[in-house]
Amino acid sequence: MLVKTDSLKKHFYLGRGQTLHAVDGISLNIAENEILGLVGESGSGKSTFGKTLIGLHDKTSGDAFYQGELLPKRFSANDHLRFSREMQMIFQDPYSSLNPRMTVLDIVSEGLRMQGIPDKDAIERVAHWLGRVGLNVDHMSRYPHEFSGGQRQRIGIARAMIIEPNFIVCDEPISALDVSVQAQVINLLDELKQSLGLTLLFIAHDLSMVRYVSDRMAVMYLGSLVEVGPANEVFFEPKHPYTQLLVESNPEPDPATERERIYRTIDGEVTSPVNVRHGCRFADRCPKVMDRCRVETPELIATPNSRQVACHLF
Ligand code: SF4
Repeated sequence: MLVKTDSLKKHFYLGRGQTLHAVDGISLNIAENEILGLVGESGSGKSTFGKTLIGLHDKTSGDAFYQGELLPKRFSANDHLRFSREMQMIFQDPYSSLNPRMTVLDIVSEGLRMQGIPDKDAIERVAHWLGRVGLNVDHMSRYPHEFSGGQRQRIGIARAMIIEPNFIVCDEPISALDVSVQAQVINLLDELKQSLGLTLLFIAHDLSMVRYVSDRMAVMYLGSLVEVGPANEVFFEPKHPYTQLLVESNPEPDPATERERIYRTIDGEVTSPVNVRHGCRFADRCPKVMDRCRVETPELIATPNSRQVACHLF
């Protein structure tokens, strides 16, 4: 396994005895050259998991491993420098993730300069990577506001890729983009994955897109995993009641089918992630809820066909 987590938790203390359980015991493996799609509604803890995994948040408890090496609970400046050569992140918002006062050259070469790469080499590598992501050398001296959303996301991809990492967390990399540009960015990531043997954690809330890009899919609800398995199987034959509702409420990419579609919404109140109680976190919204669900927390267990599900029905 390239990346592995074991009961990884990230809690935020809010004061007055209240704790937000953003990530609450995630155990997950990501194999080399695999794309693992992580889906769930807003607030499910997907981004916090990605950031905690690569050291942008301190870990509350549990472990994370990279190539079998235990990652520190809290990254020092040296840890950030060392592991940034291996693990990078592409951020959700191409507008706010780029410093508006820096030129494209400065933004894309920042990681190289931190590693002490001489300016001449850094400029050559920036030129190479701008070309790889569909931009050109003339763009080096420009500022982020001079680019479209899709171009800015390409700058973000070049910034992550120039370090030549093995593992990238893509945190909703297309959700702020127009539909036509989304496909271009997805195809670019896919091409880089194929040509460079990258491993990706692809975080998104659009299940169709995640199914399209991912080898496996993991579904997260209120800080916990509820289902993990091959992407096509999870999408076409979801087992967990939450995954089933998520698939039924997901927009169809084909406009013709979309017009015929009868939508299901996920009813009920989302349980608070603050001071979480025992039992299934989905119980208040689950159409199949049983008495047992309100008192016993379901574990993520293996079911046939390489699937894992956290539900008392299995
Ligand atoms: Fe629904 Fe119970 Fe399964 Fe939770 S454990 S998803 S409440 S059936």
